[in-house]
Amino acid sequence: MASLTASNCAALRTVNFAAANRKIAQIRQWSPILTHLRPLSGLRCGSNHSFSSSSSGVRAQVATLEQAGTGAPSKVDAPVVVVTGASRGIGRAIALSLGKAGCKVLVNYARSSEEAEEVSKEIEAFGGQAITFKGNVSNEDDVESMIKAAVNTWGTVDILINNAGITKDGLLMRMKKSQWQDVIDINLTGVFLCTQAAAKIMMKNRKGRIINIASVVGLVGNVGQANYSAAKAGVIGLTKTVAKEYSSRGITVNAVAPGFIASDMTAKLGNDIEKKILETIPLGRYGQPEEVAGLVEFLALNQAASYITGQVLTIDGGMVM
Ligand code: NAP
Repeated sequence: MASLTASNCAALRTVNFAAANRKIAQIRQWSPILTHLRPLSGLRCGSNHSFSSSSSGVRAQVATLEQAGTGAPSKVDAPVVVVTGASRGIGRAIALSLGKAGCKVLVNYARSSEEAEEVSKEIEAFGGQAITFKGNVSNEDDVESMIKAAVNTWGTVDILINNAGITKDGLLMRMKKSQWQDVIDINLTGVFLCTQAAAKIMMKNRKGRIINIASVVGLVGNVGQANYSAAKAGVIGLTKTVAKEYSSRGITVNAVAPGFIASDMTAKLGNDIEKKILETIPLGRYGQPEEVAGLVEFLALNQAASYITGQVLTIDGGMVM
């Protein structure tokens, strides 16, 4: 069952010009999607706009800004991002990174509502905007509602990060069909559903960026992960196909393939397996979620990434080379 908890959605927040201008400078890198961003000065409130002044500065629901004294109102829209599975681990780091860079972030989760709310609050604390959305990415209705929630709140979807994922490991001989199906449903069908729903919006805008979190095991396989590596290999094939189908619509689609990253997913592997894994990583350590988030932020926001599509970027401490 999908639900929108927009604790902050309608709330007004405080920003100051210096902070807002720093964000805009960052967001301006995101050309061609946001070439029209201009530094803020002398903001004023319009009756149908989302700003109102307060003693502590300018309070804003950062949806639409109007610049005073420049004649026609100019819209200043930050990119709208949907991050699936953003309550914990890599998705959390991505949501925080993009939120702090000035994006409006829909923080999706399946069960961890408190953690998801914390992520939204942290984005708000940095002067950004976020809504939390409970929804299962493998459920078509949930996905439709999730994309609608972003559109209803902010008018569009500019960036989709397909991050939600699970593991249900086991050797092929003992793998139950439900174990196989659950992982395929969330890790692969979920990416298909979210991509299809978001691409409808991006297609009309003739711009957008989609980043799928795959895995190096989708490239090289892994003992005990037939379901997971098949799903991730599927995500890589899906990424390349969608990149080809949507390139003429100004939408780029890329996959990020992490190696072993410190998160709840890897914490359950245990010390013995961890020791063996570390021996296979040239850099001799697990990656951090923030390192993956940095790469995703580059692909999502940086102008230099606008000529990258259909690629799989590994971030794995040199594991697969
Ligand atoms: P994690 O810490 O276990 O977090 C998984 C996230 O996915 C949580 O936010 C979870 O939400 C969400 N989620 C699970 N099922 C969902 C569903 N049906 N619908 C919506 N959200 C759902 O995992 P992680 O390590 O950060 O992994 C994130 C992504 O990176 C996954 O796609 C994973 O396959 C990939 N990856 C991870 C590693 C690694 O070493 N950690 C390596 C390569 C690739 P709840 O909190 O509500 O359950």
